Amino acid sequence: MTLALRIASVPGDGIGVDVTAEAVKVLRSVERRFPGLRFAVEEQAAGARCYLERGCDMPRETWDACRSADAILLGACGLPDVRRTDGTEIAPQLDLRRELDLYAGVRPVYLFHEAHTPLKGIGAGEIDLVIVRESTEGLFVSRDAGVRVGGEVADAQLVVPRRGAARVAEAACQLARSRAKKRLVTCVDKANVLGSYAFFRKVFDETVAGHPDLKAARLYADAAALWLVRDPRAFDVLVMENMFGDILSDLAASLVGGMGMAPSADIGPAHAVFQPAHGSAPDIAGKGIANPIAAILSAAMMLEHLGGTRGEPRLDEAAGAVRRAVAAFLGKVPRSTPDLGGTLRCAEVGDVVCEILEAGSSS
Ligand code: NAD
Repeated sequence: MTLALRIASVPGDGIGVDVTAEAVKVLRSVERRFPGLRFAVEEQAAGARCYLERGCDMPRETWDACRSADAILLGACGLPDVRRTDGTEIAPQLDLRRELDLYAGVRPVYLFHEAHTPLKGIGAGEIDLVIVRESTEGLFVSRDAGVRVGGEVADAQLVVPRRGAARVAEAACQLARSRAKKRLVTCVDKANVLGSYAFFRKVFDETVAGHPDLKAARLYADAAALWLVRDPRAFDVLVMENMFGDILSDLAASLVGGMGMAPSADIGPAHAVFQPAHGSAPDIAGKGIANPIAAILSAAMMLEHLGGTRGEPRLDEAAGAVRRAVAAFLGKVPRSTPDLGGTLRCAEVGDVVCEILEAGSSS
C-alpha cells in the first residue's frame, strides 16, 4: 500500500534555498527507490527575504501548511542586515519552535571521514554523539521580553521550568537507549554559578534516576567545550539548556567538517521541523557551492522520525538507505564541496547521493 506524506518545505533565505532543493531531490529519489512511499512537498515562504517582499516573515498560509503537514523541512532563515527595531534578527525558525512546542533540538554529530576533522588520530565513526538542546525555554525565553532602561541597560532572563527540563532530559534518556551505544547521558550546565542551571541539573538527576540502565554524567559548560575538543569520542548523548545547545552544537559541528555536515531536528509532541543546523550563510549564498549534506541528513532524520511515529518500517529503511548513500558518497569523495576542501557544487552532491541511493549499491 502506498504511504503518502505531506511535507511543508520552507527553504527560507540564502543557502537555505539551495540545500533544501537537494533535500527534496533526495526525497524524490527515495520515492523511486521505495515505490510505496510518496511525498507531497508544498513549498512555503518565510524568512528575511519574505519579510522584505511581503512585510511578514511567516505568512498565515505558511503557518497553516506547517501546522497541517506531517513534517516540516526547513532550510535557514535570517539575514544579518534584516533586523527588527530592537536590533535582533528576523527568525521565524525560533517562532516555529515556540508556537509548535518543538522542545527537543536533536543535533547528531558524526564523523563520516577522517579528512573532515581538525583533530589528529580520529577515524570515521569515532565521533558519534548527539546534542539534545532544550529549544523553547532557557535564555531564549527573553527573546521578546527583557527589561530595557533608556539607552543604558538591557537584560535577559534565563527561565527553567520543571516540566521543560524534565521532558528534555527524558528525551535525551530515550535517545541514549534507542542508540544503544555507550548509554551515557551527560547534563551540561553551569550549576556552580546560577540557580537556574542548578535546578536544570536537579531535574536531570531526578529524571535519569528513573533510567537505571543508563549512565549519567554532569559537566559544566566550559568544561564541556574543552572535553568536546579534547576527546569527543567519550560522549554519547548530551542534554543542555537552549543557549548552551546553540553554542556547543556549532563547536561540535566543527569537529566533523563544519556546519554543512550538521543536521538537526526540532521535535515536539505534535509537530517536528527538520533543518540543517546552519544558517543562511550570506558569505556563500547565490554561489551554488553550499554543502547540502546537513540538509540531506536532516531529511533522513525526518524519515526516521515519521517511521517511528507511524510505526512504518519502510520509512526507517528509507532513512537508513539515505544515510548509507551519504556515507558511501563521502567515503569516495571526502573533499566534495569547497567547505570540505573540494570543488563540487551543491547540486552535484545531491545528484551523486541520489545516484548511489537509487543504485542501492550502498545498502
Ligand atoms: P551560518 O551557519 O549561516 O554560517 C557560518 C559559516 O559556516 C559561514 O562561513 C558559512 O559559509 C558556513 N556554512 C554554513 N552552512 C554551510 C554549508 N551548508 N556549506 C558550506 N558552508 C556553510 O551562520 P551565521 O553566518 O552566523 O548566520 C548567517 C545568518 O543565518 C544570520 O542571519 C543568522 O541569524 C541566520 N541563522 C539561521 C539559522 C536557522 O535558520 N536555523 C541558524 C543559524 C543562523
